[in-house]
Amino acid sequence: MDTQEVIEKEKRFVMQSYGRLRVVFEHGEGTWLFDKEGKKYLDLVGAIATCSVGYANSEVNTAIKAQLDKLINTTNLYYTEAQVELAEKLAQVSGLQKSFFCNSGTEAMETAIKLARKHTGKKGIIACEHGFHGRTLGALSATWKQAYKEFCSPLVPGFSHIPYDDAEALRTAITPDTAAFIVEPIQGEAGVMFPKHGYLRQVREICDEKGVLLIVDEVQTNLRTGKFFAFQHEKILPDIVGVAKGIANGVPLGVTLAREGIDFTKGQQGSTFGGSALACAAGLATIGYIQKHGLVEQAVEKGKEFFKGLEGIKMRNSSVAGARGRGLMLALDLDAALQDVKEVVKGALGLALVLNSPTGNVLRFLPPLTISDEEIRLGLKRTEEAIQRFGMKTPQGAGQR
Ligand SMILES: *Cc1c(COP(=O)(O)O)cnc(C)c1O
Repeated sequence: MDTQEVIEKEKRFVMQSYGRLRVVFEHGEGTWLFDKEGKKYLDLVGAIATCSVGYANSEVNTAIKAQLDKLINTTNLYYTEAQVELAEKLAQVSGLQKSFFCNSGTEAMETAIKLARKHTGKKGIIACEHGFHGRTLGALSATWKQAYKEFCSPLVPGFSHIPYDDAEALRTAITPDTAAFIVEPIQGEAGVMFPKHGYLRQVREICDEKGVLLIVDEVQTNLRTGKFFAFQHEKILPDIVGVAKGIANGVPLGVTLAREGIDFTKGQQGSTFGGSALACAAGLATIGYIQKHGLVEQAVEKGKEFFKGLEGIKMRNSSVAGARGRGLMLALDLDAALQDVKEVVKGALGLALVLNSPTGNVLRFLPPLTISDEEIRLGLKRTEEAIQRFGMKTPQGAGQR
């Protein structure tokens, strides 16, 4: 099939819930993706942070292949070594004793919500405006964006939303029926939005004071901010944490972590595929690779270089309004009056660069942690070129597209 045929078949046979870029990727290597014509693209999106240690990582793939030849999934009717080993590893790196394994970020959050209601016997869940927690009805009820929700209402009752980065708003919103507060350490889908330093610490204190569970959604932030988990920057321990995306280098794996003492009883939660031997082997190999090569620590330095480059782009281009980032989770704000970010993302493909915009006029960068300094420089150079060459609104056409 050529590219055009793939695109036509997708339109006929796949549900049309995605707005895709017109490119068919066939294989990847490290920070690079290759399309059907053999063209090589530098990828600064990392399959939305799922590709944490690079495409076709040979050490991780060797471990996956070895497990593949032994067992893929037995279900949780039985025990597997891979699952308990991964649970032990996650307890070591998170400080949270117990794992529940599932297959995606939304399930990890769904599980977190069920667990909080079970543990407290209360119904109320407070989440944040502009937050994103997934697409299943429970996690979606915690998600903010109306366009994701209104067409499939009614949602799950018991959810309310407060402004992000406003600890006092949490204090006010808590009622005697509040089970938990759900928060992202950095709001990824909202455009890589950072709260003030100390916010997580403040909400931890308020939750302790009021007897409310703190659920931290680390589905996107795990591994890449310079700590294993972003909550560790503020030296707090959440009660429950949701993890997915990069934890198994692209193999579907979600995890809900919880403090000792917060647990289900038999039959209250389950998953046929959750914690399969294959996914757990991939998770273990990914974490093993990250630890062996010091990639969590290296994300600090690489992130600084990346951020400096973004600041340079901002300084040289009046159409760039802001730059921010922590480790290898970064963003640029384009000036909406001067730039059309969608055109920049589309045009970048022509420069052999993969970019992403989660919302509005934001470019988001979530490259594999294995990205080299040279690839960072090249990525920044191409990003600047894409911003300058594509998506520039003409003065008279500004705001009229
Ligand atoms: C991506 C994401 C989710 C949902 O994960 P899926 O694997 O797509 O279900 C939940 N929370 C956050 C913060 C995310 O970034």
